[in-house]
Amino acid sequence: MGILRWQRRDRVASPDMSDGARVLADQPQSGNQDAAVTAPVTEAPAQPGSDIATLDWEALRSRVSACTACALHTSRTQTVFGVGNPSADWLVIGEAPGADEDKQGEPFVGRAGQLLNAMLLACGLKREQVYIANILKCRPPNNRDPRPEEVISCEAYLMRQIALIQPKLILAVGRIAAQNLLQCDTPIGKLRGQVHRFRDTGIPLVATYHPAYLLRSPAEKRKAWQDLQLAMRTVDEPPA
Ligand code: SF4
Repeated sequence: MGILRWQRRDRVASPDMSDGARVLADQPQSGNQDAAVTAPVTEAPAQPGSDIATLDWEALRSRVSACTACALHTSRTQTVFGVGNPSADWLVIGEAPGADEDKQGEPFVGRAGQLLNAMLLACGLKREQVYIANILKCRPPNNRDPRPEEVISCEAYLMRQIALIQPKLILAVGRIAAQNLLQCDTPIGKLRGQVHRFRDTGIPLVATYHPAYLLRSPAEKRKAWQDLQLAMRTVDEPPA
């Protein structure tokens, strides 16, 4: 199964795609298999520091790279902070690093990353023009779903990234990202196709399918394109 070209008819062509890269092994539409065997959390998750909201980019990056606030620090190769334009209009937020991201230290690499790049190009955006980050900065072992305590421990970093970027739009890619950002357990199929607000920031948020899921379910690309068109309209004409 190759990566289909994404092309906005009035704009740019998508790049050539390599079939050699790995497909991320997440399960955007499935339940959390790990959750069934996870022991109840009896203590409050560790917090990375009360001053996160005051840090600049370099201090924030440095804090993340040294973070030991949750157990994922023991199995990571390196943290995956985020990449892109720190003044971007679009902030793309995914779930967590996979094996390739853990090795390279950059979010959305491999085949899913290439498809994300093509999706952005279809919107007239190069990867470098947006900012790309994840809910978690460290890879969950075996690409399992993030655990609630890990999300809570890592949340201050993402919130600070959002505050520094002040994007016009958040594009939440995949069930895990969308549900955590919107603090709900609504299926991704019901979260997509509409404009949400990101908590009390008021930033418009559009949810869509994860590119790894689209690689496995190419028939859903049509709906993802509809979501991207909605995202473009939202940036061009922000809701009142
Ligand atoms: S996932 Fe986040 S909170 Fe956990 S160790 Fe990594 S950076 Fe720290």
